[in-house]
Amino acid sequence: MKCLQATKLISESQERKLNFTEKVGVKTHLMFCPHCRNFKLHCEQMSKLMKNFANNS
Ligand SMILES: [Zn+2]
Repeated sequence: MKCLQATKLISESQERKLNFTEKVGVKTHLMFCPHCRNFKLHCEQMSKLMKNFANNS
């Protein structure tokens, strides 16, 4: 899997459940790609912030 695919799936995972193949693909990619690990962290933080924002308004 390439970074482009991995980051796409990571951001999609905030919106929908990934299937088994996608999950395994992303997990494997994250094991050797620190760039995408950072991206995932960032995505999760953003999605938490957005949820908090939605709840407070
Ligand atoms: Zn990557």
